[in-house]
Amino acid sequence: MKISTYIGALALLAFSDAFVPSSQSSARNVAIHMSTEAPEKSNTNVAQTEDTSREKVMTFSYDMSLEQKYEKPTYPGTGNGLSGGEDGDNEYDIIVIGSGMGGLACSALSAKYGSKVLCLESHIKVGGSAHTFTRVHKGEKYSFEVGPSIFEGLDRPSLNPLRMIFDILEETMPVETYKGLGFWTPEGYWRFPIGSAEGFEALLMEQCGEDGPKAVKEWNALRDRLKTLGGSTTAVALLNLRQDAGFLSTTAGALPFVATHPDVFADLPLTFDDLSKTVDEIVTVPFVRNFIDCMCIFCGFPAKGAMTAHILYILERFFEESAAFSVPIGGTSQLGETLQRGLEKFGGKLQLNAHVDEIIVEDGRATGVRLKNGNVIKARKAVVSNATPFDTVKMMPQKEDEPKQLTKWRNDLGTLPRHGAISHLFLGVDATGLDLSHLKDPAHLIVQDWDRSMQDSQNLCSFFIPSLLDKSVCPEGKHVIHVYSSGGEPYEPWEKLTPGTEEYEAYKKERVEVLFQAVERAIPDIRDRLEFSIVGSPLAHEAFLRRDRGTYGMAWAAGSSAPQAGLLGKVLPFPFPNLKTPIDGLLRCGDSCFPGIGTPSAAASGAIAANTMTHVDNHLQLLAEAAKRDPMYEFLDPGILGQIYKPLVQGFTPSAELRTERFASGAGAAPVDYTAKNAERDAAASN
Ligand SMILES: Cc1cc2nc3c(=O)[nH]c(=O)nc-3n(C[C@H](O)[C@H](O)[C@H](O)COP(=O)(O)OP(=O)(O)OC[C@H]3O[C@@H](n4cnc5c(N)ncnc54)[C@H](O)[C@@H]3O)c2cc1C
Repeated sequence: MKISTYIGALALLAFSDAFVPSSQSSARNVAIHMSTEAPEKSNTNVAQTEDTSREKVMTFSYDMSLEQKYEKPTYPGTGNGLSGGEDGDNEYDIIVIGSGMGGLACSALSAKYGSKVLCLESHIKVGGSAHTFTRVHKGEKYSFEVGPSIFEGLDRPSLNPLRMIFDILEETMPVETYKGLGFWTPEGYWRFPIGSAEGFEALLMEQCGEDGPKAVKEWNALRDRLKTLGGSTTAVALLNLRQDAGFLSTTAGALPFVATHPDVFADLPLTFDDLSKTVDEIVTVPFVRNFIDCMCIFCGFPAKGAMTAHILYILERFFEESAAFSVPIGGTSQLGETLQRGLEKFGGKLQLNAHVDEIIVEDGRATGVRLKNGNVIKARKAVVSNATPFDTVKMMPQKEDEPKQLTKWRNDLGTLPRHGAISHLFLGVDATGLDLSHLKDPAHLIVQDWDRSMQDSQNLCSFFIPSLLDKSVCPEGKHVIHVYSSGGEPYEPWEKLTPGTEEYEAYKKERVEVLFQAVERAIPDIRDRLEFSIVGSPLAHEAFLRRDRGTYGMAWAAGSSAPQAGLLGKVLPFPFPNLKTPIDGLLRCGDSCFPGIGTPSAAASGAIAANTMTHVDNHLQLLAEAAKRDPMYEFLDPGILGQIYKPLVQGFTPSAELRTERFASGAGAAPVDYTAKNAERDAAASN
């Protein structure tokens, strides 16, 4: 493979998003969706979950155009969304809707790039899916995370984009670490030892009986097959990416890697493709296949449906000696609070309980937002939605004479396949005389039956006991446990029920029994030890996380391009709708954008959006600055190669529709000296 070919491909990727996104739908997708979805134009799709056998890819479909009214009751404890915009400041460069990992990363980095940023959050708490809530019981506080619990690479400079962003913002988040993941399976308990390739091989030998040597061989063959792609993660990072021509300059540092690893180019389509294609070719031992499916499931799919890129970080980094999972001290909400500090440090603002009702579009351009309280706030450069695609389209009601592309985009996003909802069980537990020394780790996965789908919410669940390592989350002598199903809980039966009714309570009891039983495997007398228990139904999940129908997320199975994937989707099987939209100045970020579900990925999507909105020079400066922070980050700086490409591309960055100065400055836009701007702002603030 020649470097020129690589550059040509990069150019294609870079320019692809300067074009209006296009809709794609391959025969393969049609096949998947036909086998699992209800007929078109119907929102009764529960039947698809009745067969949850292992080989099925489970997605839910829902046509939002059939539900024009989106009013949902407000849950106490989540706020009424009626704040925001009261401070008289009603014009910003960038407005970000939502303070999930994507929205906060985008807001904080955009503020660091020198933009005047406002992040509007509907809930009264920061962090989106990663927020925490507190229950006071007998006068004492118990704190629970509502979503993510498993984080690798937050304890040290690492390739986790979230950690990179913390470091770029010069913010720290104290954590405790642990080195394994407990698995409770039909065969019994075993532990995945992170940070030890030998330890994992020993596990394979122990668990696979006479197939042990074969399992080790197949596992290593899989790692070898994906080694070059995995290696490319230290040649170019997600933080180098942007969606315009500047991409050529910010990723140019990868050229030496490409020159020495010519096979990387041939493997480029594989990065986005269905992981199961590779796994099926190489891995036959059931234990290894099961392990791979479980490690993928956090992206929503098992290997079948997961993008190959999802496993690269695991294959490469989880077996390095330094690898470790982290428990943020003070709870998962620390993720959001850390990013919030970064945002505010650079002059950005976060307003909570500020629900956006409408994204204002004028002459084909997003010019601001209308809040639920009626206040209008203007955006000079861009509006970025961190809400799911389903929640984003709610903010864009159909108007007469709107551009056809907008109507199509709304329809495409509103009918994207999605994961189901999640059921939760939050337990406050009396730890008197409780010996948990057999639980070496706070995080555990439970599988009932390997013949059923990992997406089946009655088959796979997780529990997490942060209080094993973080004593601040509950009173002394107690524990908090969060148990949650996979993201395949059908929403429809729940929406027919009214919270508080006998029927609703009975259904709650029925659906979370499996979660109780999961914890019982590890703590047999758990029910006798309860201080209290709280069931979080999909309706609560929807309300607390502000995710339509409580969805775990958008669910386009890898293997073909998603609708609205942009030109990139025409040349590669790109399983995400573009973060750019047909509306000038409207972008998206979050876990429905590349690279997908998970806190690192959502944060990365926010960084890509922020990079896309700034001049390439700012982006290069940020990368150079980051590279100096730690030897681990040196590869971020494309160095001289980046400078060589810069003159060719800088006139096109940010792309025309994102330039505040676009009418004044022709093809080019002057770089913003964010260091000087931020210094000015700091000086003004201290006066
Ligand atoms: C139960 C569970 C377990 C998980 N486990 C893990 C894990 O172990 N490890 C991991 O890395 N990831 C895990 N994840 C996934 C991860 O949490 C998510 O992918 C990620 O946090 C999503 O971030 P996001 O940026 O897409 O936005 P979200 O978290 O969805 O945030 C979007 C924000 O937008 C706000 N919003 C929506 N509409 C509006 C509006 N109209 N106006 C104003 N604000 C609005 C919402 O209130 C919300 O705060 C888990 C998720 C769940 C639910």
